[in-house]
Amino acid sequence: MDIKTELLHESERKELPSSSGLGFGTHFSDHMFLINYTEGQGWHDPRILPYGKFSLDPAAASLHYGQAIFEGLKAYRGKDGKIRLFRARDNMERLNHSAWRMCMPQVDKEELLEAIKALIRVDKRWVPEARGTSLYVRPFMFAIEAFLGVRPAREYMLSVIMSPVGAYYAEGFNPIKIFVTDKYIRAVPGGVGEAKTAGNYAASLMASKEAKELGFTQVLWLDAAERRYIEEVGTMNIFFLLEDTLVTPALTGSILPGITRDSVLHLARDWGLKVEERRIAIDEVLKKAEGHSLKECFGTGTAAVISPVGLLYYRDKDYAINSGKTGNLAQRLFDEITGVQYGEREDIYGWTEVI
Ligand SMILES: *Cc1c(COP(=O)(O)O)cnc(C)c1O
Repeated sequence: MDIKTELLHESERKELPSSSGLGFGTHFSDHMFLINYTEGQGWHDPRILPYGKFSLDPAAASLHYGQAIFEGLKAYRGKDGKIRLFRARDNMERLNHSAWRMCMPQVDKEELLEAIKALIRVDKRWVPEARGTSLYVRPFMFAIEAFLGVRPAREYMLSVIMSPVGAYYAEGFNPIKIFVTDKYIRAVPGGVGEAKTAGNYAASLMASKEAKELGFTQVLWLDAAERRYIEEVGTMNIFFLLEDTLVTPALTGSILPGITRDSVLHLARDWGLKVEERRIAIDEVLKKAEGHSLKECFGTGTAAVISPVGLLYYRDKDYAINSGKTGNLAQRLFDEITGVQYGEREDIYGWTEVI
């Protein structure tokens, strides 16, 4: 791919934010990647431009009918000064799966990865140095064809923007409190729950708004049909350590197939833990929490990596987990995965690639 590159002059580049005040998704690097798709012509005009506003037709289909998908991955700067991507090919694969589900065009995974690397090289000073910080990379695709009517669009834009990020949760690596909702649902069987598509997040806002008003960090979603089986939490997959068995909901189509989830499953199996991907009812989890056989609970996702859960709240009742403290397994998984991401631990699965 021949990427046309138009770079900012040194003097026009932004001042870097301090690593202590990064937050999540509030600062953006100097440049962005763009490529267009036109039916009959395919992908064309790849370019790296100064970060800036898009010009869109008011009838652009994504604004009306929601053909919009995204991905999220990170570039990590190790103590050795090298910049690494973690399982980026899996993100490209998942982008294509989301695109397929939303009747959007497939991308060339290798070419998009090359473009992402080129963008990171251009903006490499934006990969922060402090341990725990990283450069969040956000590829996203949306329909730009101007028409009103419900059908797949014939023109799309794919862009990549990048944001230096600190720790995801305000509380840091401390157990979070989760509100189990049986009032709202996130996804339905046969729906788009397994696609990283914009509408899923719009649909989730009301539940998380209400949970936050009550002092909770996130919502735990139950299945749409019976409101009984656990799906996932906020924008993370969820795991339970029941005695010595690690259990997570199976991928049934309504759950987002997380790459961190997959990494945890690999590690846990290789460490000799019993692992089950299955249906898991909220009553089973709560009963085991009361009987102290629910040893740990944690969420997994690129943003937080591992997010220990210290409390579940369901139907007016609190259920503490591991006395509200971070469990040993959550800590061990966090240390291992971040160790690999920062190039401090041996990468036996070939998950990282140095840029
Ligand atoms: C992105 C996402 C996840 C986590 O996926 P990772 O690949 O681990 O970052 C989980 N659930 C939802 C709804 C998501 O959007």
